[in-house]
Amino acid sequence: MQELIGLSFDDLAARLAELGEKPFRAKQLWQWIYNKGATDFAKMSSLAKPFQATLAAHFTLTHPAIVAEQTSADGTRKWLMRFADGQSVECVHIPEEDRGAVCISTQVGCPMGCAFCHTGTQRMARNLTAGEIVGQFMSARDSYGEWPTPTDETRMLSNIVVMGMGEPLQNFDNLKTALRILMDGDGIAISKRKITVSTCGIADKIPELADLGVKLAVSLHAPNDEIRNRIMPVNRKYPLKILMEACRDYQRRCDRRQFITMEYLMLKGINDSVEHARELINLVKGLEVKVNLIPFHAWDGCGFEPASNNATHRFARVLDEAHIAAPIRRSRGQDIMAACGQLKSDKTDAGRGE
Ligand code: SF4
Repeated sequence: MQELIGLSFDDLAARLAELGEKPFRAKQLWQWIYNKGATDFAKMSSLAKPFQATLAAHFTLTHPAIVAEQTSADGTRKWLMRFADGQSVECVHIPEEDRGAVCISTQVGCPMGCAFCHTGTQRMARNLTAGEIVGQFMSARDSYGEWPTPTDETRMLSNIVVMGMGEPLQNFDNLKTALRILMDGDGIAISKRKITVSTCGIADKIPELADLGVKLAVSLHAPNDEIRNRIMPVNRKYPLKILMEACRDYQRRCDRRQFITMEYLMLKGINDSVEHARELINLVKGLEVKVNLIPFHAWDGCGFEPASNNATHRFARVLDEAHIAAPIRRSRGQDIMAACGQLKSDKTDAGRGE
């Protein structure tokens, strides 16, 4: 039995052709899966009964199982989603008044070992398949009953941020297949302008995101190599000079003006001084960026403290005076451990870098 969710349209069509089905069947089936969210072949009423039976004999259609669901006081919803082999990830919906972003994961655990990140303490178990990446969004839609695909204006699940567990560009092939499925207008139909992929800095893959047309966020968190080497091991392989060049390349390749979001966690005594803000301004010169200043959520044994409100506002002011947008982000879902860097599906500590 083969799982259908996660096959590209061309692969799906090829599989049906092998079974002797006409090409138009692929589109019909695609719409049942991704536009209507159907998981039972027998309920696909526009398909002939013999075709339904063929499908049931060869394929499965599985959305990740929601095994736990928590809703924050601010409306943020977090799910623990389990896959067929028992591995699980956390997935979050961050609602705004008339829309909302679903934060999806690409790996079980994370191998990157960023020192401040709670997710990074979970041992890397495996990459997610394309179907498991898409499936998280589909299960989120199940949870909200948002099937069939509503119009753009009436969606609660309107945006996708690939910022959950794992480093997306380390699982890039599966991510690309998943994004193409998520963007397909006959199915889930999320516009590329409403998708943001966040990386800790896998520089050689960044320009390709421009070809996909999705937005880029970089977990920057430091204004120079010395600090970044200390808190983000990825920087030893892709130091800031290379990372910034990749960002420039991304911006050159975008078919329309596209700013990059630089994520910057405010860590007391580490990266939060006025001098650091000035270094940051120099670093991003020539790029169109927005810098999100993110409050740090301390966790047991992390060894970091959040920057003070004063330091954060001072930092924001320096960037502001240099005409760099630097909003101080409001924490969402902190009470249910759903905020940035807090996701973890295995509550035991494996120890970083194991
Ligand atoms: Fe992994 Fe991202 Fe956490 Fe770094 S910040 S350890 S890349 S999940």
